[in-house]
Amino acid sequence: MRLPKFRYLEPESIREASSVLSDEPTAKFLAGGTDLLPNMKHKVELPSTVVNLKKIPGLNFIREDNGDIRIGALSPLKKIYRDAMITKGLPVLASAASSVGSYHHQGMGTIGGNICQQNRCRYFNQSKWWRSTRPTCFKAGGEICHVVNKKETCYATYCGDVAPALLVLEAKIVLQNKNDTREIPLEDLFTGNSKTPLGFQMGEILTEIIIPGKAINGFSIYQKVANRESIDFPIVGTALWASPTEKVYRVAFTAVDRKPLRGHKVESFLNGKDLGDGILEEAGQIASKEASPVKTSNYSPSYKRKMMGLLLQNALKQAVGR
Ligand SMILES: Cc1cc2nc3c(=O)[nH]c(=O)nc-3n(C[C@H](O)[C@H](O)[C@H](O)COP(=O)(O)OP(=O)(O)OC[C@H]3O[C@@H](n4cnc5c(N)ncnc54)[C@H](O)[C@@H]3O)c2cc1C
Ligand code: SF4
Repeated sequence: MRLPKFRYLEPESIREASSVLSDEPTAKFLAGGTDLLPNMKHKVELPSTVVNLKKIPGLNFIREDNGDIRIGALSPLKKIYRDAMITKGLPVLASAASSVGSYHHQGMGTIGGNICQQNRCRYFNQSKWWRSTRPTCFKAGGEICHVVNKKETCYATYCGDVAPALLVLEAKIVLQNKNDTREIPLEDLFTGNSKTPLGFQMGEILTEIIIPGKAINGFSIYQKVANRESIDFPIVGTALWASPTEKVYRVAFTAVDRKPLRGHKVESFLNGKDLGDGILEEAGQIASKEASPVKTSNYSPSYKRKMMGLLLQNALKQAVGR
């Protein structure tokens, strides 16, 4: 499959890169390209200009700062799960990063690109020829959804592995455009609208991820079920951060909704409790009702809900073991 024609730029500053998108909203940023380029080959994303961020210095780092951990958005996934501080203190993030695609995706793919990846659907992530056998769907510019018969609503699913790990770590992100810098909770980046899943303001670049240092003190784990052990998006991914001594728990899911999802109901159920045997099963049952997935992949919504519960139970069992 060939790439469509596009203008290609390699700016050397955030200001320069941001200016391109401010003046030309149909342009797109490129980091590792492992999500954007396949989508362009499938002709589901057709940017007029591709703005490579990799020539901008200072966006590939992992460092401790005032007790917090700061990660540059262009840091490759491989760098993240090989970092001793992250592997030891934030295993949920290391294991989410190492579960992405294959070794090659982890070498090319960046943490920023992983967070900002497109939502997915079995009627969307297909070649132009495959899609030509049925009317163009809403997300690809048409007027119909092949999954849910609701006007002008797309249900494509967010399938990134890293975002749920960052949600349970209560990560913040830094967004920069040519004029401003703002810091927001990662959760606020996701709109829940699958046609425009990310709430960037004009020309904004994700530059940094900030993880509060206190997250290091807890137990954390990422559990993923996928069709194959590598080169596969999650059918369901579940992240857990737990402080069993303080009886505080944070849970997040991926691949079950239009955005990565915090498990607020199951967190309220667990908070303040000891992890005894009886409550694990109940927590699993509550977790399986946190989302209402639709059939945007080959897996049924009921299977996904069941796996949400089982993955969380398994994660909680491991928290008890520690
Ligand atoms: C076969 C295959 C298997 C895969 N398996 C998985 C998987 O298991 N789990 C998973 O999570 N992903 C998977 N992916 C998707 C992809 O490889 C990863 O999400 C990867 O981390 C994307 O990072 P990237 O740097 O390559 O992003 P890119 O493709 O460069 O960018 C992705 C999107 O983010 C935007 N973007 C990138 N960086 C920034 C930034 N700093 N600021 C603002 N916008 C930005 C781009 O404009 C683009 O829209 C898979 C892809 C393939 C092809
Ligand atoms: S959920 Fe519907 S509109 Fe969205 S990509 Fe799938 S078929 Fe298209």
